[in-house]
Amino acid sequence: MNDVPLKVAVVGAGPGGFYAAESLLRSDVAVDMYEKLPVPFGLVRFGVAPDHPKLKSVTAVFARIAEMDGFRFFGNVELGRDVSIAELDAHYHAIIFAYGAERGNTLGIPGENLQGSFTAHEFVAWYNGHPDFKELAVDLSCRAALIIGQGNVALDVARILAKPVDELRQTDIADHALDALAESAIRDIYIAGRRGPVQVQFVGKELREFAALTDCPSCVDMADLALGSVCQDELVHPSRKDAKACVDLLRTFADAGCAEDQAAKRRCHFLFNRTPLALRGQNRVQTVTLGHTALQGEMLKQHAVETSETSELECGLVVSSIGYKTVGIDGLPLADRGDRLHHEDGRIVNGADRGAAHYVAGWAKRGPQGTIGTNRGDSVATVETLLADRASFTEPKEPRTHLLSILANRGTEIVSFEHWRKIDACEVVRGATNGRPRNKLTSVAEMMANAGIEHHQTAGAS
Ligand code: FAD
Ligand code: NAP
Repeated sequence: MNDVPLKVAVVGAGPGGFYAAESLLRSDVAVDMYEKLPVPFGLVRFGVAPDHPKLKSVTAVFARIAEMDGFRFFGNVELGRDVSIAELDAHYHAIIFAYGAERGNTLGIPGENLQGSFTAHEFVAWYNGHPDFKELAVDLSCRAALIIGQGNVALDVARILAKPVDELRQTDIADHALDALAESAIRDIYIAGRRGPVQVQFVGKELREFAALTDCPSCVDMADLALGSVCQDELVHPSRKDAKACVDLLRTFADAGCAEDQAAKRRCHFLFNRTPLALRGQNRVQTVTLGHTALQGEMLKQHAVETSETSELECGLVVSSIGYKTVGIDGLPLADRGDRLHHEDGRIVNGADRGAAHYVAGWAKRGPQGTIGTNRGDSVATVETLLADRASFTEPKEPRTHLLSILANRGTEIVSFEHWRKIDACEVVRGATNGRPRNKLTSVAEMMANAGIEHHQTAGAS
């Protein structure tokens, strides 16, 4: 197989998929990218916060990759719905699964399914205009919101709830979210971690933004910043530089004594050593029982253990921002922790000779961690594994045109990259009238119409 031009399918058009595609194309491998939505870029479009537009400029890099010789984009084609792995196996030498980690972790506590309780995955997808989440029943008429978890996603959610709506009007946030946020009655935003201030997963730069929010001071109980000896050692450990920056910032929040600031429109409260035990309410969340925790274990391995103490917090919105997991589509093997696919150096070993060789990139490979840039080196490493294996590849049973005719016979409406460019242009024009970078289309039907594709609604498609 060393001399045969390779044909590889990449599943998922997020950073993991695009960086893998770039690396393959540079090695003269033909790449067909399959994406379930009519629009590319994964979490760069549907995850990254709307008030962080600079980070989204990486889409220009991905658009340039899409222009490279040998690249084709098949949007609106979902693995497991429109095409099976067996079908891809028959038409490619190899497949790279880069379909992310699209399930929000849940707490598994009573009341979690009450109205007003969401995973961060759902809530973020809602404000970012993901077609599957535009109808989420978000009601911001309550006075308080609780965000569980102290990672950067929790900060994104808190900031969107905290910022004046006029600042969000200049972003690409979905119109339906803007309307809801304009009417928001939320005054107190609690960001609760089960461990202490030294164990936050925030990046210092992200937390620093809370020092500059308009009319929204941030508050910390001074007592939470009294560190035990293990935490003090942990704080100066070289691997915890961001923790040090965060604790320094939290001290300034505490000094500001903002809990007393009654005039502010909103307030963010950082709570530590709290874990939710139950959500309660008539039909929708009204209160949360928080268990108080203590830290146990050695430095850098301290974990939270429950104490007998609890407290009640009144709040009508709960967002659990406690990580994500990947799904094992069509029997793809999950790793032990269940949050990523099982692999060895990016190679999926499943024993069976299925035709194409299987690989994984992005969050489906590493689990839900790392920034957009982290995916680059990681995808390159997967492609190196793939290229090292090429001598063992078998020739695909069918030409790729055969798969396109299968999809056409099935009525799958494929969105090409040229179609996406039309959707993109339409969104940019819609946004320009109000000085926004874009105004997103939020339904598949609207996207297809603006791509110039006659859309026949399928079950589940909005
Ligand atoms: P994704 O970006 O999720 O892409 C996966 C793609 O696969 C999606 O387009 C999806 O639609 C598609 N897909 C899923 N299932 C199928 C299927 N069955 N068939 C076909 N296609 C499928 N990083 C930063 O550097 N800066 C930030 O500000 C930042 N903000 C973030 C905010 C949030 C809320 C989150 C969750 C993450 C954020 N990140 C940020 C991290 C960054 O977004 C990820 O590192 C990156 O997007 C992971 O890339 P990926 O390609 O693995 O997954
Ligand atoms: P994260 O950084 O892993 O944080 C998850 C948080 O959830 C942690 O505080 C964790 O606490 C808590 N948690 C997990 N399970 C819990 C449980 N059962 N009960 C209570 N709390 C629980 O994850 P994330 O915020 O989802 O971010 C995902 C990745 O995207 C990260 O790598 C992040 O840096 C990246 N990202 C980057 C940016 C940016 O660069 N601007 C923005 C957003 C996201 P413990 O520590 O105690 O487990």
